[in-house]
Amino acid sequence: MTLLPITLIGDKILRRKTVHVTDVDMETIELIKNMFDTLKNAHGIGLAANQVGSDKAIFILNLNGVEDYEKFKPMVIINPVITFRSEEKIVMEEGCLSIPDIRLEVERPENVVLKYQDTELKQCEIKADNLLARVIQHEYDHLLGIFFTDLVEQEQKKRIRKPINRIRSRKIDVDYPVTEDSEYRL
Ligand code: ZN
Repeated sequence: MTLLPITLIGDKILRRKTVHVTDVDMETIELIKNMFDTLKNAHGIGLAANQVGSDKAIFILNLNGVEDYEKFKPMVIINPVITFRSEEKIVMEEGCLSIPDIRLEVERPENVVLKYQDTELKQCEIKADNLLARVIQHEYDHLLGIFFTDLVEQEQKKRIRKPINRIRSRKIDVDYPVTEDSEYRL
């Protein structure tokens, strides 16, 4: 089991748009395997490649630890594009392994359609609702350099400014490996 340090808000790679994947080579397979180990260890349900320091347009999902999703098969999503967002929006609480201990209510479309490639670069499409639609949108945003904290009202942004500064300076207590202060900042 290989655990990769998780990048935290402030690490520059999380603000850069990720790069289209044209070849799933051994290095990429290794990355994906390590991402699943890292996600499991951190008790998360989704993880984007730039959260472990890679600039590839890949995210993974594993919801099977969540009630009602016990049969969920872990998914590898490569080069995703959201092709449909419902007009109906819902509010759900979100958190992020790159922004530990901050949870906010975020409004997003209730349903989405996602086109993506699997590990054989085969074109796939999934219609998602509920928690799956939510985690897809959250991880998809990561690949574009967007955090869920960007999507809330100014008032909420103000409220989390101090806790975010504590995360940036690593004055936090997390039970999974994270990048050292100043890592990935160039
Ligand atoms: Zn996140």
